[in-house]
Amino acid sequence: MGKFVAWFRSLLLLELIGGMALTFRYLFRDKYTLMYPMEKTPQSPRFRGLHALRRYPNGEERCIACKLCEAVCPALAITIDSEQREDGSRRTTRYDIDLFKCIYCGFCEESCPVDSIVETHVLEYHFEKRGENIVNKQQLLAIGDRLESEIAERRAADSAYR
Ligand code: SF4
Ligand code: SF4
Repeated sequence: MGKFVAWFRSLLLLELIGGMALTFRYLFRDKYTLMYPMEKTPQSPRFRGLHALRRYPNGEERCIACKLCEAVCPALAITIDSEQREDGSRRTTRYDIDLFKCIYCGFCEESCPVDSIVETHVLEYHFEKRGENIVNKQQLLAIGDRLESEIAERRAADSAYR
């Protein structure tokens, strides 16, 4: 009996009609595909992209060379050297991140006591030469300077959850 019903149903092409109906229904709905890079999906304020080092409004770098980010990094992507300034404060003399090693986990950002190292919304970047994957302190500060308003805006949007 079961075989006969299946055979009869196959004659009526019910699966085919059901499939075509589904296609027809989605024909007039909003499309999920985007014309990247002209169109982009919305991004969370917590998105973890290219790193940056931030400064205080007076221009002083935030990083106090505590090395928590270096210690917590599971990929061993961060290398820091530091020294004491004449005023007694401690600052980095070297802050390198190997972006090939980085797994964008965000632990460095979470561990930083002064909101210095952050991951920005920038996800489109590339390297053309060997060694460019290692970004140094000056480059990270320059990224921070360039994107400070966006970084501050995104951190403010997420502040209730931090
Ligand atoms: S995002 Fe994670 S892997 Fe990348 S530098 Fe920070 S702690 Fe290391
Ligand atoms: S970026 Fe933050 S966590 Fe890393 S050394 Fe500087 S102050 Fe410490």
